[in-house]
Amino acid sequence: MISTETKIWLSSPHMGGQEQKYVKEAFDTNWIAPLGPNVDAFETAIVDYLNEDVEVAAVASGTSAIHLALILLGVGQGDHVLCQSFTFSASANPILYQGAVPIFIDSEEETWNMSPELLEKAILASIDKNKKPKAIIAVHLYGMPYDASEINQISKKYDIPVIEDSAEALGSSYLGIKCGTLGDISILSFNGNKIITTSGGGALITKNKNLKKKAVHLATQARDDAPHYEHSKIGYNYRMSNVVAGVGRGQMEVLPERVRQRRRNYDFYKKNLSEIDEISFLEEPAGSFSNRWLTTILLDSYHSREQLRQELLMENIESRPLWKPMHLQPIFKSAEAYTNGVSQSLFEKGLCLPSGSNLAEEDLFRITNLIKNTFLK
Ligand SMILES: *Cc1c(COP(=O)(O)O)cnc(C)c1O
Repeated sequence: MISTETKIWLSSPHMGGQEQKYVKEAFDTNWIAPLGPNVDAFETAIVDYLNEDVEVAAVASGTSAIHLALILLGVGQGDHVLCQSFTFSASANPILYQGAVPIFIDSEEETWNMSPELLEKAILASIDKNKKPKAIIAVHLYGMPYDASEINQISKKYDIPVIEDSAEALGSSYLGIKCGTLGDISILSFNGNKIITTSGGGALITKNKNLKKKAVHLATQARDDAPHYEHSKIGYNYRMSNVVAGVGRGQMEVLPERVRQRRRNYDFYKKNLSEIDEISFLEEPAGSFSNRWLTTILLDSYHSREQLRQELLMENIESRPLWKPMHLQPIFKSAEAYTNGVSQSLFEKGLCLPSGSNLAEEDLFRITNLIKNTFLK
């Protein structure tokens, strides 16, 4: 029987306080229709935070931002797209929306993200078949930056653009450069369990003004300049609404605090679980700064991972296995993949611990005491 103690969630929304003020403004001015002052202000807040010469388009979700990025890069029917295998399915699904062909790339052990070595191998194999890939989708999983120096160098060498999936990494940085500004096109997600949320939403980021204009055009049904409705391209209804953007404005005000709180969780777990030999943590490589969106641990076997997950569940504490790699997913079983066993092993032995920025210290003690009881008895 599951304990009647209060449920501890993996990662739940955490409002800052000002969100309702901006939503109320939208109501008071009747800016309920899509677009409006909150969308502009939310986009500006993201630009200010990223502190780069970037253009931001707020959209309906991270998934729609990836879809738009692929369209903007000219990815279509039959084109090859190289995608990190160790990720959430939303990184890869838009490749199929375009009728393109995903090729999955396994991870390296340092960051758990795309292996540059396998990436180059896959590029050479595609070029050999006269099918140079059209895009690379690299992911900062759980907030840990991928090896952007290596990935960008390969991207330059073969002239293949990078779509940076920064859905989990707002607040992270690589060599002092903010995640979300490291790709040719980058995306963010504001889904309910991300480090900040608009209840649902995303953003597309580019350094090219014209590309932002094109993204917004496609995201608003691709209406041509005419008094009637004229369409020369297929459009999408992907823009963020002005009500939702009000939530985003409030959340941007507390983002630095959210990063501190998530990192505090990681530090707490690491310190309090250090005596357990069966558990290890993912460290930041030199030059990387992770927002620690979720604290992830590795157990010594699939068996101990499942045992721990069940024990937490019985105490009404939500935890979750790491993402199941795309090359092991039924929907992608016929896709080509360059593997080295790393992501499969992470999937088998890894667990995400509760990581919300709203966890109280007593919640954290409840979790670590239970884990200690499981392993040190
Ligand atoms: C959440 C997430 C997405 C998708 O974002 P949505 O806003 O949920 O559509 C894409 N990639 C990764 C790695 C994610 O975690």
